[in-house]
Amino acid sequence: MTPSQKGAKNTQVETSLQGAVDSPTPVASPRALVSPKGARRWASGHPWIYRSDVVKRPDVHAGAVLVENAAGAPLGWALWSPRSEISLRLLDRSPNAQIDARWWRARLEGAIARRGALKDVASAFRLVHGEADGCPSLVCDRYDRWLVVQLLSAGIERFRREIVESLLALVQPEGILARNDVPVRAKEGLARETVLLAGDVPREIEVIEYGLRYLAAPWDGQKTGAFLDQRENRALAGAIARGRALDCFSYHGSFALHLARQAASVTALDASAPALARARENAARNAIRNIEFIEADAFEWLRAAERRRERFDTIVLDPPAFAKTRDALSSALRGYKEINLRAMRLLAPGGMLFTASCSYHLTKALFLEVLEAAAADSGRRIALREMRGQPLDHPEVLTIPETGYIKGALLEALD
Ligand code: SAH
Repeated sequence: MTPSQKGAKNTQVETSLQGAVDSPTPVASPRALVSPKGARRWASGHPWIYRSDVVKRPDVHAGAVLVENAAGAPLGWALWSPRSEISLRLLDRSPNAQIDARWWRARLEGAIARRGALKDVASAFRLVHGEADGCPSLVCDRYDRWLVVQLLSAGIERFRREIVESLLALVQPEGILARNDVPVRAKEGLARETVLLAGDVPREIEVIEYGLRYLAAPWDGQKTGAFLDQRENRALAGAIARGRALDCFSYHGSFALHLARQAASVTALDASAPALARARENAARNAIRNIEFIEADAFEWLRAAERRRERFDTIVLDPPAFAKTRDALSSALRGYKEINLRAMRLLAPGGMLFTASCSYHLTKALFLEVLEAAAADSGRRIALREMRGQPLDHPEVLTIPETGYIKGALLEALD
């Protein structure tokens, strides 16, 4: 971070704190004028307008602004982020909308209602998936009786109070934690912090997913405390599991727990000892005793297992995002190919592999190409049984590619 960004960070925090006490809609409505290219993005279903397409910048702090096209016709309301490359994020196409407490409550209520069906299968799921739910740069995950939110832009920070009050009214949680410690906040000139916004939130929360219990770590776990986005894929892996199973990149063992219900034995592998310690606790919590935990580098271990001619009936590969940036894509592709190739070779005849990638930069088409290339080198006849994506609480909106990042495939070794 540059010194000037650091300075701006403090200013921005003051602004957002002010936002918590001031009225949300400024008296004279501030306007942004956008170029035809900027207007076209909204017309095609994408909510972002970049700095370079803002012809006239509103002379106000972050918050809600009215957006007009070059001819002065109103296009709707947006969140305004003065420091960000993403300057405007669409909130409402109606120029008559009032972005106030009632507006936020109605918007959040809609998002929460879409998740109604999940209550029957899990006590932890996403309530708000940012742009996909029309709540740009806002994430809200439910962990049993508590909520964890992420306010990821200066514009959304301005509405912190309205959002917190709406969530308290709609969900009645015992506490709301902001996991605002993510790097993207720096680009908005915002502080990186983990803070309580309401009530209290425990360090660990037991959640239930398809009858299995595991601990989420809202204060310091990955993401907002657990990988909620793979819930349905874990259930799938559990349903097809049998014989000898392997869960690579196991983290807190969530795939391994599902595999262990039907498989005879499970090997859960991860490079992180603390992650495996938690995985062991999660297994004990479910009285599961058929999981062996191995601390190892997955690349090395898979290679060695292939040399030992080991065989598995069920394998799960759920690695971290190898391509965190577009520049990292080519080396990431090699990584994905390598682990998939090894896993394919380790499959027993008739064995099943569930393989995933959560790299946004690896498209669905590229993911399939990687799997085809790995299958070609594996010397095995590998069938694609099913392509998988994101669960209903992480909707992937077709016109907003950024809302989708998880790709999964269920493969079968036919020989
Ligand atoms: N499958 C998990 C999420 C996996 S997160 C779930 O559904 O909850 C990715 C995990 O990969 C992390 O726990 C990290 O410690 C582990 N990891 C990263 N690089 C690794 C490597 N080279 N070998 C083994 N594990 C690795």
